[in-house]
Amino acid sequence: MSKKPIYMDHHATTPVDPRVMDVMLPYFTEVFGNAASTDHSYGNEALRAVEKSRQQIADGIGAKPEEIIFTSGATESNNLAIKGIAEQYREKGNHIITCVTEHPAVLDPCKKLESQGFEVTYLPVDHYGMIDLDELKNSIRYETILISIMAANNEIGVLAPLAEIGKIAREHNIFFHTDATQAIGYVSIDVDEMNIDLLSMSSHKVYGPKGVGALYARKVSPRIKLAEQVNGGGHERGMRSGTLNVSGIVGFGEAVNLAIKLMPKEVVRLRELRELLFDGLKKEIEGIEMNGHPEKRLPHNLNVYIPGVEARSLLVQIKDEVAISTGSACSTAKVEPSHVIKALTLNDDRAYKSLRFGLGRNNHIENISEITFLLARKVNGILKLKI
Ligand SMILES: *Cc1c(COP(=O)(O)O)cnc(C)c1O
Repeated sequence: MSKKPIYMDHHATTPVDPRVMDVMLPYFTEVFGNAASTDHSYGNEALRAVEKSRQQIADGIGAKPEEIIFTSGATESNNLAIKGIAEQYREKGNHIITCVTEHPAVLDPCKKLESQGFEVTYLPVDHYGMIDLDELKNSIRYETILISIMAANNEIGVLAPLAEIGKIAREHNIFFHTDATQAIGYVSIDVDEMNIDLLSMSSHKVYGPKGVGALYARKVSPRIKLAEQVNGGGHERGMRSGTLNVSGIVGFGEAVNLAIKLMPKEVVRLRELRELLFDGLKKEIEGIEMNGHPEKRLPHNLNVYIPGVEARSLLVQIKDEVAISTGSACSTAKVEPSHVIKALTLNDDRAYKSLRFGLGRNNHIENISEITFLLARKVNGILKLKI
């Protein structure tokens, strides 16, 4: 078998950490009970495991376990947060504020709500990908019920000033939701300190299994109610029905626990690797530029613009050796230039010529020189053909 390409697309997904998998295994076979069937020990044991995971996840963001609602992933969490608030608090107002560079799992529910009579303000971003807090304040109306701004962008890694946004939201009595899918394990989050009312996360972005996620929804001051989006047996305090994915939830809890524990060292290690990678690429490739903010970004994210080189044709040439991408997996399916890069510069050309690296737990220093060398060779080959 030929050597597998080096995986550097950790914003799209991550492998399950072997330590997480070990904890999950018994829950497929021996401990297979339904966590809602508590008339016997099978169900009780499953329930205990679910509650342990709920505690681990709550601990990761400074929340209480009863504020965690398990879902199938961040897409569902975002839908539940945004549509759940909109439907529940429609009497209070019909206006939502979000941002143009959000993930489609935020933008699409907002568009859906627009078709149902809600009004949505999509804040623009500057060339770093940051929103302007004064613009946020100015866009608040009497009817505004929700501000939804992601904690860390999945394409360019830019970090939002969560505490500042939370403060503005709280001063105006508006709920604050953040899609923190990419931030968990890289940025310290405390929902109380930051005045976050709702927070979405996903297991498979933090070295846990796919198909499981969570929504944090504040329970006191304010006590948040959400109109449920999946009706059924009334699981998860009536906010999300359906038999719980016990093995997935157990893995998710352990994955968050591990990610928070490893965070101090991993953040430093990954940032160093990312800087080495960018320094190497800058030496070899003329005119290459970083997309996003130089400092206010995820430590493991690098997004670069390479003038004169179509990202897609470059990716085809290197795909047997390294797995990187042009941006979000969702826009990859559509073959459209990234809406995030476009928003930075209002420039389609830059979006077609940008690449995203997402470094991860299994990447090491040897990968960096290997990738720098390969990319330099291919890029300079493409540019030479053009002359
Ligand atoms: C991956 C991702 C999602 C979607 O998460 P799933 O669990 O795959 O549904 C949502 N938001 C952001 C920022 C993401 O990176």
